[in-house]
Amino acid sequence: MGNQKDRLLRGTALNGKVRAFAVRTTDLVEELRQRHDTFPVVTAALGRTVSAAAMMGAMLKGDERLSIQVRGDGPIGLIAAESNANGEVRGYVKNPHVELTNIRPGKMDVAAAVGTTGHIDVIKDFGLKEPYRGSVPIISGELAEDFTYYFAVSEQTNSAVSLGVLVSPDYSVANAGGFIIQLLPGVTEDEIKELELALSKIPPITEMLEEGLELEDILKRVVSDVTILEEMDVYFSCDCSHERVERALISLGQEELEQMIEEDGKAEVSCHFCNEKYRFDKEQLKSVLERAKS
Ligand SMILES: [Zn+2]
Repeated sequence: MGNQKDRLLRGTALNGKVRAFAVRTTDLVEELRQRHDTFPVVTAALGRTVSAAAMMGAMLKGDERLSIQVRGDGPIGLIAAESNANGEVRGYVKNPHVELTNIRPGKMDVAAAVGTTGHIDVIKDFGLKEPYRGSVPIISGELAEDFTYYFAVSEQTNSAVSLGVLVSPDYSVANAGGFIIQLLPGVTEDEIKELELALSKIPPITEMLEEGLELEDILKRVVSDVTILEEMDVYFSCDCSHERVERALISLGQEELEQMIEEDGKAEVSCHFCNEKYRFDKEQLKSVLERAKS
């Protein structure tokens, strides 16, 4: 809506017994749509995944990084998203051109595109030797329920997850975002009942964003006493570079590089995450080969 921009809120409620996140990712998802030329149902699936990634990134600290891989048996194939604690997010899908008929106008069958069996992997890089890995089976394919299940099973945290992407008739992103409400130890049965009641009454996240509701107001509809602890920008960012791609080429090894130089005399490598293309001519490939030898 209007001059609102993508941002993320982290808050607390019920005397610290609840933590809450809300995010608007409209511009981010639109940028991903344009970079990867995603069809509407794919825009929705990727947009939901990166919205979850953005909020889960806000659960990290410092230089920690998060990677989500949704591996369903639907036509999209892999959905990948990465984020960090600074609001930087990127993502891609294996098959951006999936066409599915709508369930009803404006309501897309995301589960049919993602698949209803498979698994979701969450990898958190804390800068330690071994990253944290959590994996849960896909239980719905609509993704919000799947992340709810992930938090319950893999992180032992009961949560309410809402994710949504509204695609315009011209296929651009009208709005996108989500929220996560997490119950921490000490929350009472009555408080849970009250939260569940509030959650059952609120409209879908895309509807609230479309009405122009601020993220604070959206969180207040679920937990009225929410206090905002942090607010940050959320945006697309990819850290690929010519140098990084060069290092990837070096790692292919001498033999493969020699073959590349002989057969094609050039190479074009695109970054999965941002679709940026990196070109190497024969001379550049030769210098890559020299570095591979040393
Ligand atoms: Zn990139």
